[in-house]
Order: sequence, then structure tokens, then C-alpha cells
Amino acid sequence: MAKKKWGQNFLKHQSVADSIVQAANVQKGDSTLEIGPGYGKLTQILLNQDAFVTAIEIDPKLCLKLRQKFEKEENFTLLEMDVMEMDPNNLAELMHHPAKLVANLPFNIATPLLLKLLPVRNTWQSLTIMVQLEVAERICATPESGKTYGPLSLVGTLGFEKKIVKIIPPDCFFPAPKVDSCVIHLIPRNSSLTLEEEKRFLKWSHLLFQQRRKTLINGIRMHFPEWYQNCNDILREKYGLRRPESLDFDEWMDLFISFKRSKKNKSL
Ligand code: SAM
Repeated sequence: MAKKKWGQNFLKHQSVADSIVQAANVQKGDSTLEIGPGYGKLTQILLNQDAFVTAIEIDPKLCLKLRQKFEKEENFTLLEMDVMEMDPNNLAELMHHPAKLVANLPFNIATPLLLKLLPVRNTWQSLTIMVQLEVAERICATPESGKTYGPLSLVGTLGFEKKIVKIIPPDCFFPAPKVDSCVIHLIPRNSSLTLEEEKRFLKWSHLLFQQRRKTLINGIRMHFPEWYQNCNDILREKYGLRRPESLDFDEWMDLFISFKRSKKNKSL
């Protein structure tokens, strides 16, 4: 019986599992991490590629099956754990670097996991993950994408080069989820901010995105009154009358630099 609370929607088709491993470009000797191996469909392909596989599975019953299935595989390590309980630094230390993360993720952890890995993203060579289509669209969205563009899109661009690989319909899983899924390939990239500043940038932009249809100057006045007082005319003219949903990533960064420079601002 698949457990809903653990997002257990298992892959039915070999071809879909193959396409995930292909998108991850897994080569012989690669160090890979699989989160949620389930019955091991993806795991088997990774092992067939002669990759080293560390797998983290929360369900004890599945762990039992996986241990039996891969008993003779020297390149396979299984951790019976909740990945969300793990310190992301410890997660990275488990791996030979740079490692590739390859996973058909349970829907409920995709976004929190991405946020968790963001500060340690440089320890990963790539992340090739199956997520809910809507989440993939949010990660990859730009202002032109409409309502999918939001805080998660800024996380996506801040930390990664992104590519939508393939949309996978519900009937490719058992049990079938209610919505489409999508494989995305993410390659970590550096931003111009320190890790501490990245954290502030995400918190700050999240607040300003809350009134996505109001003008930015409204949001600034509401959330950052000191900054509002010090906002110069250029800033008001350049961004004040725009809506948060219309600013692309570079414009958000430009605005953040102005926020950082605003000396009196102590609100974040
Ligand atoms: N990889 C398998 C496949 O493609 O058929 C299973 C994918 S299924 C979408 C998600 C898997 O993640 C399940 O095996 C589930 O038990 C496991 N899982 C769910 N939450 C987890 C967590 N917090 N930590 C580790 N594994 C988790």
C-alpha cells in the first residue's frame, strides 16, 4: 500500500526512469544521491551506470525491500532517514564531491528541500529532480510567465541554471497523482551576494511579493517604513510605480542593492 503522507507515487515505466538518469548525465564512477528510492527503479538504473549511489528512504518497509534487492551491490548505501531532518552540510559530506542529486521527489518536500540545499548548492554538480509541474513552472518562471512567477522563481534564478526536461502525466505513476509532474535539471551557480545576504534577499523579496498587484512603493511603505522615508526620487521613479510581478531577477537585485545601501534601514 502506497503511503500518501510520504508522497509515494512510484514510477511505472522504465522509459521515464531512463530519461531522468539521462538528463542527469550520470557516468561511470559518479557519486549520486537519490532521495526516496521507493522500490528502486531509478536506483537500479544508476547502479547499472556504475555510479555510486547513496539513497535516503524514510519508509522502513521499503528500506527492507531495498536492502534485499541491492544486497550484493557494493556501490549502494542506504540510509533509513527523513531527509528533511538532516543537516544539509552533513548531507553534502556524505558524498564524494561533486555529487549529482537524482530523484523522483515526494511532492510535499520539493520546495523545502530546494530551500534547504540552496546555501550548500555548490557542493552539488547538478540536481535532476521530478517535481509537481506547478512547482517546476514556478522555479523556472520569468515575469512573462504570469502568475507562476514569484518568490520561488527568484530562488531558482539566484541559485541555479534551470532547464525543464520533460512533463510526465499522472498515468506514468502508481498510484496516479492528481496533477502532472515534471523533470527539471538544475546546475548550481554563484550569485553576487554572500550567503547571509542571499537569505536577506529572499526574505525581503518574499515580503514585497506579498502584494504582487500593488505598486512596489506601497509594499515598501508597508514593510520597510524607514527605507520608504529614505527612498530617493530615482528609485521611486524607476521602480515605485511598478508591480512586484513585473520586475525580472536583475531588477530585483538592483532594488536590493538600493535597500542594502539605505543606511538607516534596520528592519531586516
Ligand atoms: N524513486 C521511487 C520511484 O521513482 O518510483 C519513489 C518515488 S516516490 C515519489 C517518493 C519516495 O520518497 C517514496 O519512496 C517515499 O517513501 C520517500 N520519501 C518521502 N518523504 C521522504 C523523506 N522525508 N525522506 C526520505 N524519503 C522520503
